Amino acid sequence: MKRSYDCVIVGGGITGLMTGYELCRKGMTDILIVERSYIGSGASGRNGGGVRAQWTTKENIQIAKESIERFKRLSTELGYNIWFRQGGYLFLAENEKQVEILRSNVRFHNEHGVGTRFVERDNLRDIVPELDSSKFLAGAFNPKDGTLFPFPLLWGLRDRIIEMGGEVVTRTEVKSIGIENGRIAWVQTSAGRVATEKVLNAAGKWSSLIGEMAGVQIPTRPFRHEILVTEPLEPFLDPMVVTMTNRLYMSQSMRGELIGGISDPVEIPSDSWASSIGFLQRMSREILKLFPRLGAINVLRQWAGSYDVSPDNTPILGTVDKPEGFYFACGYSGHGLMISPKVGQMMADLIAQGRKDPLLESFSIDRFSKLGSEKKESLVIG
Ligand SMILES: Cc1cc2nc3c(=O)[nH]c(=O)nc-3n(C[C@H](O)[C@H](O)[C@H](O)COP(=O)(O)OP(=O)(O)OC[C@H]3O[C@@H](n4cnc5c(N)ncnc54)[C@H](O)[C@@H]3O)c2cc1C
Repeated sequence: MKRSYDCVIVGGGITGLMTGYELCRKGMTDILIVERSYIGSGASGRNGGGVRAQWTTKENIQIAKESIERFKRLSTELGYNIWFRQGGYLFLAENEKQVEILRSNVRFHNEHGVGTRFVERDNLRDIVPELDSSKFLAGAFNPKDGTLFPFPLLWGLRDRIIEMGGEVVTRTEVKSIGIENGRIAWVQTSAGRVATEKVLNAAGKWSSLIGEMAGVQIPTRPFRHEILVTEPLEPFLDPMVVTMTNRLYMSQSMRGELIGGISDPVEIPSDSWASSIGFLQRMSREILKLFPRLGAINVLRQWAGSYDVSPDNTPILGTVDKPEGFYFACGYSGHGLMISPKVGQMMADLIAQGRKDPLLESFSIDRFSKLGSEKKESLVIG
């Protein structure tokens, strides 16, 4: 570590690395990424790898669409295969109310340039032949959604950042942030103090704590989210399937494993990453409802991570007037991987050039102080 940097990024997850990568690509290479544990130790190394443009606000759709286009190029650009595969996302409705929601989502997506189509029950098995379609009334399918493998993405970004001259330190913790004359002045880490005028808070579920260090209240709360992976099976599942009732999601990796999670309606905010039998039971029951033939498969592993949830399930991106030089990108509410390319690009523009992408307005922290401005994203999974 040197004594000073143009920018210090707190967090070696997808947000910190993607923004660091974009900063370096712009020529701002005097940056330090500080990670308390290992790269991807937070949510970025614990997620389901899902990538979709099926959202219910036009801003979320826009940010996701641009990110999908970027993911297509990233394997080549990074020199790492990120296993990005566009098998689509199929949302499944079990009652008439959900059917109406899907119909309305399809209209909204089509209006905003996403090719989601409504799928009648009789046609569900054209997309997923193994599905027990008798349990569902209809679906919504966007063939351009997909999945990727998060670790090579993280490693590729880290390697390219270092190659371009940026610095990444692990097993190093940010302890405090210094402010002088209303500006960011330094960052105290467990390995010493570094001077800097710019700090990016990319600390995921810990983002509110990093905010406190700079005197900025960031309204994110951590919710545990459990997930599992099965033994590998022959390929049979092209899209990610999602049930509207329990928000179960499941996809098949290119190695054949099934990966998925399910929402837990009684989960309360906590720091827990414990795995539970209850999750395993609920998940198994729901998987069997979709695919009765899967009764005999083995679960290889289950684990948990945290969603950093914002009050309106929408990311919090941008900066504040005071202290000057403090930036943040957090509050993804369980969907930060899939939008990371566009977030990284917008945050890098803001940090390096002070250029504010018009899209950032809808994600600004100010929205929480405007009465009646809450427009909640309703298509959150898990
Ligand atoms: C089970 C699960 C499934 C998910 N599925 C999907 C999905 O399918 N698609 C999708 O897009 N998203 C998904 N998500 C959400 C996604 O993983 C997150 O939104 C995203 O990874 C957030 O990235 P991040 O870099 O902001 O935070 P993180 O990856 O959590 O990184 C923050 C980092 O900051 C570090 N840190 C914190 N405090 C300090 C400190 N004081 N000093 C130094 N370092 C510090 C942490 O160690 C951590 O590594 C899922 C999440 C979970 C938990």
